[in-house]
Amino acid sequence: MAAKNKAKTYLLGASLLSLTLSPFFAAPSFAEGEQYFLNNKPVSKDQYQAAIFLQEGVKFLHANNNRDAVVKLKQAADLSPGFAEVHHNLGIALAKTGQVKEAISELELARNLNPNLDSTWMSLGGLYQTEGRIQDAIVTYGEFVKRFPAHKDAKKVSDLIMGLQKEASKESRVTSGGSLQDYYAEVTAHGRARWPASKMPLKVFIAPGKNTPNFKAGSEDLLKQSFMDWQNVSKGAVSFEFVESEKNSDIQCTWTNDSSKFKNAAEAGETQLFSGKNGLVKGSIAFLTVPLMPDMPLTQNRLRLIFLHEIGHVIGMAGHTNNPKDAMFFSIDVADSWRDLTERDATTAIRLYSEP
Ligand SMILES: [Zn+2]
Repeated sequence: MAAKNKAKTYLLGASLLSLTLSPFFAAPSFAEGEQYFLNNKPVSKDQYQAAIFLQEGVKFLHANNNRDAVVKLKQAADLSPGFAEVHHNLGIALAKTGQVKEAISELELARNLNPNLDSTWMSLGGLYQTEGRIQDAIVTYGEFVKRFPAHKDAKKVSDLIMGLQKEASKESRVTSGGSLQDYYAEVTAHGRARWPASKMPLKVFIAPGKNTPNFKAGSEDLLKQSFMDWQNVSKGAVSFEFVESEKNSDIQCTWTNDSSKFKNAAEAGETQLFSGKNGLVKGSIAFLTVPLMPDMPLTQNRLRLIFLHEIGHVIGMAGHTNNPKDAMFFSIDVADSWRDLTERDATTAIRLYSEP
């Protein structure tokens, strides 16, 4: 026990970075007789109709009805190909349906048509980030901060750049993609941590969340399921039991609506690990109950991804990967879809606990 009191403490920042997506609203438009106006300028009938479709598309986007938004915005783009806001919103809608490469093309087009749209720079940076294109993301976010220094999200984007630079410096030191089966090398590049076998099953305390603003009912069950999924894919190399009391628990999960308490304010969750001479002795995870960006609501799907990611950290995967399909990818996914642990996640967890 004395050894535990002297345990060396270290902090592992868990930077699951956010994306920034803000759809535009089309300016009010109206028709007078046969003459069409947009922002007080006369336009063609097609341009006018495209603006109507744009407004409808944005309404679909706000209702998270992304497939209908794609259809409507493609109609708008066909009618008026030079309309930057149409391509911007089409990019957002495509991203939300998981078509990230197509989304990037649309946002690049929107940026080229009108480089004065702040959201386009931000969203494009976010999409590069979800694709693991770290350098492109840094350059694009950097351009955003340079062009719009007074923007309300400028500080947040600067934090994102810092987090990405950290990932980029790790990337240059680790030869990633060396193994197709697992990402053990990436996540242990800066040291390996694991729980001693004698501690299994790990006692997990999940704090009640109902008094934290914006806490979503059912989150505890989703979190428990995510712990059990790691247990199952690791074939029991790590195992968990849920306890009612924080006292004597190994892992504590808490909720907060204030990301300013995190090391990096652009994170959706933060894991801290404490180790002694025989391995890990304590882990704690704080989960954010509010979305980092209003256009990326914390749905069950996104919570699920954050849970899987932070649990990966707490079982000892300190680092990140640059493969968007991995649970330990450094960024949150823009597509709002359910995630399960992959073969690579499983193999990595097993290897973490079987390596001598
Ligand atoms: Zn992380």
